[in-house]
Amino acid sequence: MYKEKNKLWEEACRHLEETLPKDIFEKWIAVIQCRSMENDTAVLVVGNDFYLSWLEEHYLPLIRQALGVVSGRNMQIKLTVDYTLISEAPEERRGKTRSLLPSKRTPVETNLNKNYTFDSFVVGPSNQFAHAASIASAQSPSRAYNPLFIHGDVGLGKTHLMQAIGNFIFSKNARGKVCYTTCEAFTNEYIEALQTNTLAKFRKKYRTMDVLLIDDIHFLAGKERMQEEFFHTFNAIFENHKQIVMTSDRPAGELSGLTPRLVSRFEWGLVVELESPDIETRVAILRKKCDLLNLTIDQNLLFYIAERISSNIRRLEGALIRVASYISLTGQGLDRSKLEYLLRDTLDQEKRQAVDIETIQKAVADHFDIHLGDMVSRKRPQNIAWPRQVAMYLSRNMTNQSFPVIGDAFGRNHATIVHACQLVEQRQIEDLKLRQTLSLLRQRISHSAQKTE
Ligand code: ADP
Ligand code: MG
Repeated sequence: MYKEKNKLWEEACRHLEETLPKDIFEKWIAVIQCRSMENDTAVLVVGNDFYLSWLEEHYLPLIRQALGVVSGRNMQIKLTVDYTLISEAPEERRGKTRSLLPSKRTPVETNLNKNYTFDSFVVGPSNQFAHAASIASAQSPSRAYNPLFIHGDVGLGKTHLMQAIGNFIFSKNARGKVCYTTCEAFTNEYIEALQTNTLAKFRKKYRTMDVLLIDDIHFLAGKERMQEEFFHTFNAIFENHKQIVMTSDRPAGELSGLTPRLVSRFEWGLVVELESPDIETRVAILRKKCDLLNLTIDQNLLFYIAERISSNIRRLEGALIRVASYISLTGQGLDRSKLEYLLRDTLDQEKRQAVDIETIQKAVADHFDIHLGDMVSRKRPQNIAWPRQVAMYLSRNMTNQSFPVIGDAFGRNHATIVHACQLVEQRQIEDLKLRQTLSLLRQRISHSAQKTE
């Protein structure tokens, strides 16, 4: 099977090598790894998001065609990122284009992505506390903060920061057992261990780590058995005085369906939050990525991109890649209107997210047929209190605002908002009708936010 999949992929590569310019082939195709080739679907893997978006935009049809030619079948392609594909760039070659480019594989010593370092992480007000805490943990593992719990919305740098800790520790001590894993991969490994009767091995592996970096821990929510297993892993590592770092898309206390004993453990050490970066930080991040990718892009254009994309750094990078690929493929410069056209989907996504609390309050009040003023009133009857809690929950989920800011908008304190969010989240697990209502409200709110743009 293995041979078969490689053979087909190799042939497709040869075909592409003949049709594409050499540098393009080497830069974009030779780095792809074929994971499997089953049921007419090729699973192809690259080492980071840059590659994924670039390939999707430019080379996927060509690759599909090449596979079709060599196999004589109509092949589907599933392109994914495996952050554990590591770079083989020698130190001296790093710095320019190499460091963001993924990589062919070398024997894995750690499964860390070498590009996620403190060097490549831009510090600004939105992340400086999290950054400082990460540096401290990296310099004195298990002594500074244990566990370190990093939370924040998607695309704000959690994985990057966590891997930077791992890379730093690994660079000081290559014999240390540093392990990065996502909570999902950890769960799958556990299930496999159960099925193959290798639980003892699984436990030994994780419980004897020097540094365990476990990404997207929110995945544990609602999974009791996994929580039990992780509880023991956590205790073992902690008792050995080894470092644990976790990330989550929200604070531990807000994860519904997480056992209190885990919540309390997650808060034992230091909890830090990554927030949306301000405009200066966004520009600095774009400049840094340009350096790393060896791109020259007009400063005004960078500013224009940074100004319009604010909620997600991954999206910001995606926009940069789009612009860079346009310039490199067409050899043409870009003016504002071309840029706007090129980034229209991304800009739309951003607009949809630009929702303010008042819009949410209005939509919810309308839906439940109460007065807008009831959103901030002291009245407590359930027919008013409940819509208010729903609005608080949607405000937290649909805007980038912090609890205190949302609290102010409702004339309530931070704890009331946290409570409302937990309540609504909990109820919707069992209540289909509520889920439908929330989905309807989200649609209406996004729609009216777009209209007011
Ligand atoms: P998360 O895990 O929070 O969803 P990631 O760590 O995957 O986010 O970050 C998304 C992308 O944004 C990555 O490519 C990462 O390198 C980049 N990124 C995030 N924050 C920064 C930063 N402060 N400086 C440079 N790049 C950043
Ligand atoms: Mg992540």
